[in-house]
Amino acid sequence: MGTGSEALWLGLVAAGGTLAAALIFSAVSALRLREAEQRLRDKEIDHQAVMDRLQENEYRLRAIIESEPECVKLQAADGTVLEINPAGLRLVDADRPEDIVGKRIYAVVAPEHAELYRENMRRVFAGEAVVYEFRSITLKGRTCWMETHAVPLRDARGAVYALLGITRDVTEHKLAEEQARRHQTELARVARLSTMGEMATGLAHELNQPLAAIANFARGCIRRLRGGDVAPSELIGPLEEVCRQAERASEVMRHVRDFVRKREPQLAGADINQIVRSVAKLTELETRQHGAAVRLELAPQLPRVLADPIMVEQVIGNLVRNSVEAMTEARSPRREITIRTGPNGGAGVEVEIADSGPGIDGALIDQVFDQFFTTKREGVGMGLSISRSIVESHGGTIRAESGAAGGATFRFSLQAAGQEAGGGERRHGLHR
Ligand code: ADP
Repeated sequence: MGTGSEALWLGLVAAGGTLAAALIFSAVSALRLREAEQRLRDKEIDHQAVMDRLQENEYRLRAIIESEPECVKLQAADGTVLEINPAGLRLVDADRPEDIVGKRIYAVVAPEHAELYRENMRRVFAGEAVVYEFRSITLKGRTCWMETHAVPLRDARGAVYALLGITRDVTEHKLAEEQARRHQTELARVARLSTMGEMATGLAHELNQPLAAIANFARGCIRRLRGGDVAPSELIGPLEEVCRQAERASEVMRHVRDFVRKREPQLAGADINQIVRSVAKLTELETRQHGAAVRLELAPQLPRVLADPIMVEQVIGNLVRNSVEAMTEARSPRREITIRTGPNGGAGVEVEIADSGPGIDGALIDQVFDQFFTTKREGVGMGLSISRSIVESHGGTIRAESGAAGGATFRFSLQAAGQEAGGGERRHGLHR
């Protein structure tokens, strides 16, 4: 082959190679492009699928929320209702979403609960999950009780942007609760009346003494008047005694009335030792009839306590009566009840009622204050529960203990009355 044709041949080969390379390159590029397009299409499809799924989820979530029988709502920090489901609209008596959406929730919160509501919202926006109850006055003026379970909703950065609340109408539940409470109060009153029945024996005895004395003095006066040898001034003394005894009898009657009347505790500065003495007197006959003796160990110079004397008498009376019953039932050979008063370690006073009876079974000691807990055949199981609620309504506490060798001890505390009343007690103490 000549040099010229060799060069041509080489040129052709080179050109062919370049062409082939160009063809291959463009084929590869087209392929890559198609692949890229395919990937893009795939991505778009994926993206669409994700969007569809998201939308589906949102529809599903909305459908759930819309058909949710409880009110579901979103609120902003200032109480603006952002969203609310149909159950929520019904709950607040809104005819259209615009009646409440975009408005403050306080439009349906009773004014006396607005502050409490605000405080709960503050807690939710501070990140807490909160359950709260409030009275609501709906857009149509209907009053009802609501319970809301509220949780904070956070954005991607973790900041709370809304409150998600599930609210339901608890009016019926509230009414039932109120009814149960009223029933309870009524029961307590009935129990007090039956305690009263037991106390009647003691009171009859209490009344008998002044009445007999009145009859005696009056008869004496009549005798002397009939005899005709009496100066009017000589009758003053016995007649004054008649008055004194009548006042004593009416005092006893006042106790009876106060005891059965329904009332709130009337707290005032009171002398606890005086209250204990009065109970000891009222229960004297009953304890004596059961062969029991009451010993008083009363600390002098105690501060005056913040108490309703009649109610505290009822507590001590219940405890003494329980001791007498326990000792009688157990046929305790020694039947002694000691009532002690003393400082309670703080500013208040402690009252202790200890007996020499069988004591309380360790397994039961935590239940004795429960309503209707009784180990007695004819027991009601209300005495200690009423006693505890009385002590607690005075801001005090009561507890029971049982000694290893038997004997039950009940201790309760009462708060001291204010500084002024304390000074009064000291003055009172000096004059005693
Ligand atoms: P009730 O007297 O009607 O049973 P209470 O509430 O007064 O109701 O008392 C509940 C129970 O506590 C009594 O049934 C008794 O078992 C127990 N209890 C109370 N006081 C004493 C006591 N001093 N000694 C032993 N047990 C007691």
